[in-house]
Amino acid sequence: MYSRSVSAAAVASAAAGKKFMVTNNALQFRLFSHLPLSVPIKLPNGLEYEQPTGLFINNKFVPSQQHKTFEVINPSTEDEICHIYEGREDDVDIAVDAASKAFENGSWSTIDPFKRGEALHKLARFIEEDKELIASIESLDNGKSLQNARGDVQLVINYLKSASGIADKIDGKLINSGSGYFNYTKREPLGVCGQIIPWNFPLLMWAWKIAPALVTGNTVVMKTAEATPLSALYVSQYIPKAGIPPGVFNIVSGFGKIVGEAITTHPNIKKVAFTGSTATGKHIYQSAASSLKKVTLELGGKSPNIVFADANLKSAVQNIMTGIYYNSGEVCCAGSRVYVQDTIYDQLIEEIRIAAEGIKVGDPFNEGTFQGAQTSQMQLSKILDYVDIGKKEGATLVTGGERIGNKGYFIKPTIFADVKEDMRIVKEEIFGPFVTISKFSTIDEVIKFGNDSEYGLAAGIHTTNINTAIKVADRLKAGTVWINTYNDFHPCVPFGGFNASGIGREMSMDALDNYLQSKGVRCKIEE
Ligand code: ADP
Repeated sequence: MYSRSVSAAAVASAAAGKKFMVTNNALQFRLFSHLPLSVPIKLPNGLEYEQPTGLFINNKFVPSQQHKTFEVINPSTEDEICHIYEGREDDVDIAVDAASKAFENGSWSTIDPFKRGEALHKLARFIEEDKELIASIESLDNGKSLQNARGDVQLVINYLKSASGIADKIDGKLINSGSGYFNYTKREPLGVCGQIIPWNFPLLMWAWKIAPALVTGNTVVMKTAEATPLSALYVSQYIPKAGIPPGVFNIVSGFGKIVGEAITTHPNIKKVAFTGSTATGKHIYQSAASSLKKVTLELGGKSPNIVFADANLKSAVQNIMTGIYYNSGEVCCAGSRVYVQDTIYDQLIEEIRIAAEGIKVGDPFNEGTFQGAQTSQMQLSKILDYVDIGKKEGATLVTGGERIGNKGYFIKPTIFADVKEDMRIVKEEIFGPFVTISKFSTIDEVIKFGNDSEYGLAAGIHTTNINTAIKVADRLKAGTVWINTYNDFHPCVPFGGFNASGIGREMSMDALDNYLQSKGVRCKIEE
């Protein structure tokens, strides 16, 4: 068999003299990669490091069973960064086996929870000591500005530390059923959890997923996104150093249709947690049903960001910018539908336009760059297609709508105004620096517009009237509501979606519920 799944780039690398070898075995050709388990990388800001390339199983970096590799691209230059090992079904089996053994031997699942918290806290400290390099890796791999990546890494540290403090505060209940019985409940971990994460916040999603799973005593097999596997592999080196035993946390890098499917359908995985598109989430929900896995999904959004005429307009404009242009708009909860009260509509559009045109877009490593590259060619093309759709639908292009340069996936911050609620650019998730602006006059009207969506991930409200703020927050169908702020996360505030935006919550005590099951114990007291 000529290994068809070996990428053209891998073959090119082989031809270029890298250590690849073709063997002929009983009329079968197989391309064996001798990719080393780490490669040196020099980052654009001069930092140098060793990038692990293997899968991470049993606290070691290992080659994949079939020695296949895939290419990782720098979205800012479209050049290859490196190759890493590509996992397959057999690698998932090995990782699940390691995670099952680690769960069953009790070295993690049954220890004093305080010790689990301690290990997670140590992990946070290792990341903190190395945070500039980690942010740089994230920026290189994802295309986001270094400024945004630094923010992500700080959120990772904060969340790991916060979750570490909850580990020993997970209690059951005593239940009074009268004399003669003693009843109590325990909250126990589920077992091996499969976790599938996306490419927009590679390390933050790693943290949001592993922290609640690990503090509660579960073990994990994770698949990172094929576009952005580097940061999670890099920080995995800190797992053993933090005192987390072998097999507790494993990564099988690879593709959704192979590794993702294998995780979703594996009989020994008890739960799957997924962040990504609604279409893939629906598919995972169905696949996971065959083995009755518990499922949590954090999916897409088309979130309304509402500005009332009495708002502090300066900070409202700032929050609209953060809401849609932070992380190059590749944010599931982006405030992509802005609603402005009619009396300030024209004035605010002008202020939003000026602010958007002032955003520095470009090389993520330039200090001052706010918006880096989109993460993939596919994403860039999708956004540009929506620009055409918006024009054809008759909306007014206020600014942007064009690619910047022809190398790297950069696009100008884009605004469409005078939109109608049934336009595709208002209804569909675009996942880029692309915002629509609509006009409203009353609270009832903006509630109707805001809730007229299949999604329900987040919403923003800008007003100086506390009554308006609370009334509107109550009536919006969204898992997170930000008032006079946006994209503003805290480890103790739950995050997750209503409707097609998902099932379950990230962060806070709510996230732990996804990884625990109750055991009720009823004990008869003998005479
Ligand atoms: P996008 O289409 O924007 O890449 P996805 O939701 O498909 O977003 O990807 C998010 C994550 O889901 C990635 O890690 C991806 O590999 C994974 N994935 C994609 N398809 C599947 C699938 N069929 N089963 C499981 N995971 C998948």
